[in-house]
Amino acid sequence: MQYYSLKKQSPPVNFETATILGQAPDKGLYFPECIPQFDSEFITQLDNWDPVDLAVKVMEPYVGEEIDQKSFRRIVEETIDFPIPLVPVTDRISTLELFHGPTLAFKDVGARFMSRCLGYFVKQGTYIQNNFNNRHSNITVLVATSGDTGGAVASGFYQVDGVEVVILYPAGKVSKVQEQQLTTFGHNIQAIAVNGNFDDCQQMVKQAFADATLTQQRLLTSANSINVARWLPQQLYYLLAYRQWKDKNQPPVISVPSGNFGNICAGILAHISGMPVDHFIAACNANDVIPRFMQSGNYEPSKAIPTISNAMDVADPSNFIRILELFHQSLPALASKFSSVSISDEATQSTLLRLYQTHHYLADPHGAVGYLALENYLTNHPGKKGIFLETAHPVKFYDVIEPVIGEKVPVPPAIQKIMDQPGTAEKREADYLTLRDYLLRR
Ligand SMILES: *Cc1c(COP(=O)(O)O)cnc(C)c1O
Repeated sequence: MQYYSLKKQSPPVNFETATILGQAPDKGLYFPECIPQFDSEFITQLDNWDPVDLAVKVMEPYVGEEIDQKSFRRIVEETIDFPIPLVPVTDRISTLELFHGPTLAFKDVGARFMSRCLGYFVKQGTYIQNNFNNRHSNITVLVATSGDTGGAVASGFYQVDGVEVVILYPAGKVSKVQEQQLTTFGHNIQAIAVNGNFDDCQQMVKQAFADATLTQQRLLTSANSINVARWLPQQLYYLLAYRQWKDKNQPPVISVPSGNFGNICAGILAHISGMPVDHFIAACNANDVIPRFMQSGNYEPSKAIPTISNAMDVADPSNFIRILELFHQSLPALASKFSSVSISDEATQSTLLRLYQTHHYLADPHGAVGYLALENYLTNHPGKKGIFLETAHPVKFYDVIEPVIGEKVPVPPAIQKIMDQPGTAEKREADYLTLRDYLLRR
């Protein structure tokens, strides 16, 4: 598979290069040059497929021969080695629980797939030999996190040979659970507690990528959902949901809590490849640039607004351009399959409580946004049924949930285990030169 840049100012590249670079040199996002089509028998027989076989079949066209079959199968096995159950909540609504991975975040799947592909390519060394005369024997993944992404990246890359990970987070501004997830791995994972806010962290990372002297000496890459190796495997969620969907004659409406729009974009990709879906809803919090765009046709990003579903506090979602590309940049075509709504913090809180009291389902704030968007849609579309994606375990947002439900959120054993471990983080000022120094000395 070749990938072209959506800005069309850089040449197409293969999967290996797209994975190592993340973003194209012209700053465009990479996009597959053709969308593979599932044969109809695959879709009608989906229930009978083993999840790993299914995942190998779906992902294979995107990777081709660039990873040998045996290694590829192992990568896929390690990517989805936890359950992804579809759980009924009401008679018309089910939830796809994406939080049973190692860090209880849906980003585990993308992070694990990407890390293992990157590890494979560093070891094979083809791209590095051709482009850097083998000057680099390893690659450094540099990320800034406001809390949730960092843990999935740390866990995904832990002990992957040839890959060093440096994670910047704002000191004192992430929850205790999140900080433990960032700082207790050690080995090839280095956490840096920056004396500043998330924007400072992101600014330092941007400066590092723009620093030609540094990038000559250190092969740097990022690990966010603009990377095709993180974005593409997320389509597996939707196929695994449809595999468990009972009423195949009536395809589901799917509601996705959305921030950077990578997850929902992967779902739309699965649909365009041939998986039946009635309608997609991008459920947003107060950060409503896409709901406003769908109303007016004008794309007007504002500043990010802090909310209680903070993993979706994104002002200018990177992956929306990929969604448009999937509909050949046609807004009417997009609007026939896709809508987007904004849900306030107050509505999120009352939904959390109602879900818990009436349906005995404890959602996290992101899932509650997805649930309410779906419930509203189904009220206006009698006879339809749907799925909302539950993107994080409630314990990760206990500080939001406990005051709403007036009860403690139970702590799962995987989290309890790391709460008592000692963590280590380098402490740095929010100053680029200290980061540069640090990276050059490694
Ligand atoms: C990242 C994240 C989202 C948003 O996903 P996108 O792919 O960026 O739209 C939603 N919920 C949680 C819990 C997240 O961590």
